Amino acid sequence: MQSYQAASDALQDKVILVTGAGDGIGKEAALTYARYGASVILLGKTVNKLTAVYDEIIKNGGKEPAIIPLDLKGATAKHYRDMATTIQAEFGKLDGVLHNAGILGVLSPFDHIDLPTWQDIMQVNVTAPMLMTQALLPVLKLSPHASVVFTSSGVGRKGRAFWGPYAVSKFATEGLMQVIADEYDNSSIRVNCINPGATRTKMRSRAYPGEDVNLLKTPADLMWLYLYLMSDDSITVNGQSLDAQPK
Ligand code: NDP
Repeated sequence: MQSYQAASDALQDKVILVTGAGDGIGKEAALTYARYGASVILLGKTVNKLTAVYDEIIKNGGKEPAIIPLDLKGATAKHYRDMATTIQAEFGKLDGVLHNAGILGVLSPFDHIDLPTWQDIMQVNVTAPMLMTQALLPVLKLSPHASVVFTSSGVGRKGRAFWGPYAVSKFATEGLMQVIADEYDNSSIRVNCINPGATRTKMRSRAYPGEDVNLLKTPADLMWLYLYLMSDDSITVNGQSLDAQPK
């Protein structure tokens, strides 16, 4: 499976929204989807990072992307409904959503976890993708084969000391994916998770400041799975949590 090779036009005519598209894995996914023919909607917090990705897509000859600057911490259901209306007006449908944006918070002992940190992590990592998916369902239903991909983590499958709210948010992500996937089984919408595994990004460096980053896979190394789940090659795959770095 890791040898999966998407056809060069695998995402031609697809419209794909990527959250956290300005940096790390999300940036690589946005550039990759554009390279395989998709119109990409770049959502993120920091506008200049999004415009840099926009410029790179245009420079590479990709279709003109759209930019949605949005801080998931403060976004409400109305923001997502307005977003869905705009996407429908601009593109007529939505074929894919990569829920990639996430925050780590601070790794700390359980008895040091404070409520504001807990709530921020749950808001960005769980509540925002839940509300966004709800609001986008009508426009996802306009696609013949829509793919919703959530981003999990190894600590979202087995808890680990000091990973507190981040780990719990990733368990919740797995649960959210399973619930939606089961409800939409046998529909045109499939829902799955990717666990990227240890990857050379800013988030990883914050969690493991001392490690040799040269030993880590890069976001580009993971893209086979990000492409697979967005392409029609995966239309029968639903309710799965897949590893981008299988053992
Ligand atoms: P980065 O920290 O490198 O990038 C995170 C992205 O999310 C950034 O583009 C950031 O935007 C965006 N983001 C963060 N907070 C918000 C917010 N409030 N509103 C909108 N956008 C926001 O992380 P990675 O690329 O490493 O992680 C991507 C995903 O993969 C995450 O869900 C993470 O949990 C998961 N993951 C990563 C692993 C790894 O080893 N790297 C391992 C397992 C899972 P900005 O730059 O503007 O803040």
